[in-house]
Amino acid sequence: MNKLTNEQILKALATAGLIGNLVKFNASISGAEAGCQAEIGTACAMASGAATQLLGGSIHQIEYAAEMGIEHHLGLTCDPLYGLVQIPCIERNAFAASRSLNHAAYALVSDGRHIISFDKVVKTLKQTGYDLPSLYKETSLGGLAIFGKED
Ligand code: SF4
Repeated sequence: MNKLTNEQILKALATAGLIGNLVKFNASISGAEAGCQAEIGTACAMASGAATQLLGGSIHQIEYAAEMGIEHHLGLTCDPLYGLVQIPCIERNAFAASRSLNHAAYALVSDGRHIISFDKVVKTLKQTGYDLPSLYKETSLGGLAIFGKED
């Protein structure tokens, strides 16, 4: 891949910001509101879209990669040990970052056409977030967080 220009990087960051704001406006980007799917799912969607753009993707391929970023995190609970954004947060974010490159690669071998649109997956994230019990919304009362209480 050729060296990227500052303009290309700024445009990709703008795309990522747009994706994040769409989720924020139409659903949530808060683990306390909608679980980790809303935080890491959205972050992954932002990175997936930006990476696809930087790799030369069309607008349809960018939308597809962003859609996968959320789709592949739907239902993910927010359950940080000790109430700290460390375990499982750090690893989850690192792997979501690496997954975003896979989403870009996958979208780029397609023509960008797919069944579930970005808007539909955001709508699903919102409903799934409502349906998740509060145990899994940053309260550290359920999921992995219970193991932080054993010591
Ligand atoms: S599990 Fe960690 S990264 Fe995920 S939403 Fe909760 S605090 Fe944020």
